[in-house]
Formats: sequence, C-alpha cells, structure tokens
Amino acid sequence: MSKICLCLTAKTIKRNLEILEKYRKFTDVAELRVDCLDSDDRLSIRRFPELAGLPVILTIRRDVDGGYFTGGEGNRVKLFATGLAYADADKRHNFAYVDIEEDFDVPSLEEAARTFGTRIIRSCHNLKGEIEDIPLKIKSMKRVGDEVVKVAMAVNTTADVLRVLKASRDEEVRDMDKILICMGHYGIYSRILAERFGSLLSYSSALSESEVPGAPGQMDVRELAELYHFRRVTKKTKVYGVVGNPLKATVGPWFFNTVFNLENRDAVYIPFPTTSIGDLFDICDELGVQGLSITVPFKETVFSKLAKSSDAVKSIGACNTMYRFDGGWLGENTDCTGFSGSLLQFVNKKNLKRQKVTIIGAGGAARAVAAEIFRFGGSALILNRTALKAKNIAQQYNFRWGTLDSQGIGAMAKFSNIIIQTTSVGMDGYEAADPLELYSFSGKEAVMDLIYTPAETPFLKRAAEAGCRTMNGYDMVVRQACLQYSCFFDRDIPQQLLSRVNTQGANTWNRIRTG
Ligand code: NAP
Repeated sequence: MSKICLCLTAKTIKRNLEILEKYRKFTDVAELRVDCLDSDDRLSIRRFPELAGLPVILTIRRDVDGGYFTGGEGNRVKLFATGLAYADADKRHNFAYVDIEEDFDVPSLEEAARTFGTRIIRSCHNLKGEIEDIPLKIKSMKRVGDEVVKVAMAVNTTADVLRVLKASRDEEVRDMDKILICMGHYGIYSRILAERFGSLLSYSSALSESEVPGAPGQMDVRELAELYHFRRVTKKTKVYGVVGNPLKATVGPWFFNTVFNLENRDAVYIPFPTTSIGDLFDICDELGVQGLSITVPFKETVFSKLAKSSDAVKSIGACNTMYRFDGGWLGENTDCTGFSGSLLQFVNKKNLKRQKVTIIGAGGAARAVAAEIFRFGGSALILNRTALKAKNIAQQYNFRWGTLDSQGIGAMAKFSNIIIQTTSVGMDGYEAADPLELYSFSGKEAVMDLIYTPAETPFLKRAAEAGCRTMNGYDMVVRQACLQYSCFFDRDIPQQLLSRVNTQGANTWNRIRTG
C-alpha cells in the first residue's frame, strides 16, 4: 500500500519535531528536508530519526531540483555523511532512506548507507515536465537491487499526467519499487491516487502550519488523510470526482467523502483540474472513474463525450453530471432542480408566476437557471458580457436579453423582483470583482449569487449592504450534490445520512473553506 510521507520543511529541528508530533497520526514516513534547515541545525540531523520515532528520509534538495541548498556539492556530501555517520545497531535510530539524485556519484557514501540498512531513493526532479520516455527513464535510473526510483515531474497539462500514469503501467516498470509524482496543480489527483499510480509514497506538507510546501502541488497532510481517506484508497476503491479549471475551491470532495465515510462505502471523490477535457476522459478511462461532476468551464463542452443525455441536458444545453451507463457516459443536469429548490425556499414561494427576474451571465449554470425560471412561470432578462450567448438562451424561453452596459442595466428596472448572479466573477481563483457594478440596488430585490466560495462575493456584499435579502449558492450546491448521489448510486441519499453530513461535516468544510 502507498504510504503518506510528511515533508518537514521548517527551519529548525525543534519545530519539525513539533509539527511531526501534531500530525503523527496521519504520517507513515517523514522526510527531513535538511536544505530548509538553518545552518546550525543542519549539524544536528544525526539524531533526528531516533527523536522522530518513525521511518525518516534524509533529503538535501539542491536549488536546481526545486530545493533550497546552494552550498556546493562538497558541502552537501559532508552533510549527507553527517546524517549517515555512526550508524546505530538499532536500525530505527538511523535514517530509513536517503534521497540522492541520479547524478550523485559518491560510491563510498552509498555503500555506507546500504551497509547500515538505509535504503537509497534514486531521484530525478524534472521541473519543466520534459521527460520524453518516462518508462525508459525509470528503468535507466535504477542502479542496485533494492533502490527505490523516484521520478518527480512537473505536469503542465493533463496529457503529462496521462504519460506518467501509463509509464507506471509499463510491463517492466509495474513491479518496480518506485515513487512517481506529478508536481503541480494539474497532478493533484495523482497524489490521492498514489496507489493507482504505483507509487510507494505520497508526499504531503503541513500547509496549515504556514510551512513551505516540499514541492509544487503537495497537499496538506491532514486533508490527504482525513478528507480523502488516503489510507483506505486501494486499487479496488471506486473513484468519483469533479472536473473543472481552475477548480480551486469546490464543496464536492467534502460532501461526497463525508457521505462515503458515514455510509462506509469503498469510494473516493477527488478534484480533477484539467486543461483538456479530452485528455481528462482518457485518464478517467484508465483509472476506471465511475461518476463525475462537471463545473466551470466545461458544462457546455462535454457533449462529445456523452453516449446518452437526459432530457434536461438536451433541453438546457448544459451537463453538470456524468456517470457510467452501458460502458459509456450518461449526462444529466442536477443544477436545474438544485437551483429551483433553493430559490423557491429562499423567496418562500411555490412558483415564480408574476416574478420578474434578472439573470446575470449566460454560461452553463445560467442555462439551468433560465430553464427553471421558465418552468416555474417567471419571466426574465438575461444580461451577459457576450451578447450572443445571452440572446441564444433568452430566445429559447422568450426572455429578454442584453449586455452588462448601461442599456442592459437600465432594462433591469422592470426585472428586479429577483436577481440571480451566475457568472464566475468574484469566485475564489478569479478576480474579486462585481459583475453588476453599474447597478444600484433599491434594497427590495431578493438577490442570489450561485457562487459559494467565498461565502460572500463583492456583489452579494453590496446587495446586503443596500438592504436586500441575499443568499449564496451553498444550499443549491448541496441540493444538486444530493441529486448527483442519486445518479451515481441509483438511490436517494437517506435523509438521516444527509443530516449527519451537515452536522459532522460542517467543521471540516469550514476549515477547508477558510484554508
Ligand atoms: P461558465 O459556463 O464558464 O460561464 C461563465 C459565465 O461567467 C459566462 O456568462 C461568462 O461570460 C461570465 N464571465 C466570466 N468572466 C467574466 C468577466 N470577467 N466579466 C463578466 N462576465 C464574466 O461557468 P458556469 O458553469 O456557468 O458557472 C458559473 C458560476 O456559477 C461559477 O462561479 C460556479 O461555481 C457557479 N455555480 C454554482 C452552482 C451551485 O450549485 N451553487 C452550480 C453551478 C455553477 P461570457 O459568456 O461573456 O464568457
């Protein structure tokens, strides 16, 4: 089974031990990053394994490999020797592993390590993602029988992640002891699915301690262990997830993983940030992914991947849910009923007859919003940055349309019972702007923003300050996630389970939301 490695990047031994103590229950192996230590503390590394009380990797990462060591190779060799010297008969008091790069060539040091049971991790850090033949690279790096080969490659695209995954399945590589890492945001799921990538370790950091991450894309150790239940994710675990870009903050992993945990289901729900929806689906096929939520900006572009679409997807023209059906993908839209359930409760009405609504935005979410306002008898004005997209949706329902200029804002005077903000403006990961800054709220409008991270966008804050009743998209996202659960598992989510998610999960979600 893959193990969790906590990368210790504090400046002092004392602080590293404090961090280790705090996160010990999530940690299988620790990596002492000597390159991050103050120079005085670098001299006291020898006793670290004994003080740590679990297997420790000795690493002195050079700046060219993404680390902080700039002292020259001679000094680095001396530091390695300091860490490995005076080996103890009790192996637990020695470093369990030493990470040395593929171009490191000090046979005496390697020999000393092997003699006293310190296993060599032969590493390569490719910060540009430029390894052409990854299987060949892995095979060529291994020198002596019991070495672990580690390839950490920056991934700039989803295609890069796919190359690493395929390399891990190469006939000669498959059974080798190895560590494969896709560094960077687009490789985040390879860290959760380390077992599927055939990697002995998944490196994580104590990000909530404000320490520097050991490498780009490393996750917080607690998040990896608690939110994603890393230790329970095996090759048999069913994989679900959310596809989007940039996908910085989404409630899905919290919601589904809390549900899976409470119902003891062998499943995990993970983020799949991607640059290319086509490459992502190749990865999903390779990983056997069972179900997906689709978010910004792919709701209108996943159609080519669907073998079958629900009536809602066909009429709305946007898909936010995909799940396996007869070997292909079936597309569904749960935003629509998630939205209307949430809005009707918010305005305390059974339908929207005589309600004049302004919809800001004309993307995938706006399509679902417009369809539901029409279904419940409301009329609407759709305002969008790109006029043609507003027009296309509006014409379907005989709604009015315009852009976010003074003319469009002027037309809002007759459509201001309810205002629904559906653009991505103000969402975490995007500019903290207000898409409706030209509009002055009267204070009588009921205002809903579909965004829920942050909990209050600049737009929603201004509406509340003007005296409007406001609601963010959190209630809607939970409602639509419950509907996705029904799609994925062909049964309604038990009410009792949902109440437990809301009570037991709220703290986790708040912690994730506030970082
Ligand atoms: P999308 O299909 O990518 O559409 C994005 C929309 O935002 C388009 O109307 C786009 O206008 C507009 N936009 C983007 N940048 C803009 C800018 N700088 N100025 C003005 N308009 C801009 O995204 P989506 O799937 O519809 O999602 C939109 C938002 O709704 C996201 O924040 C998402 O998290 C949220 N959402 C929430 C829920 C929930 O359950 N609470 C469900 C679905 C979506 P153009 O057409 O001109 O590009």
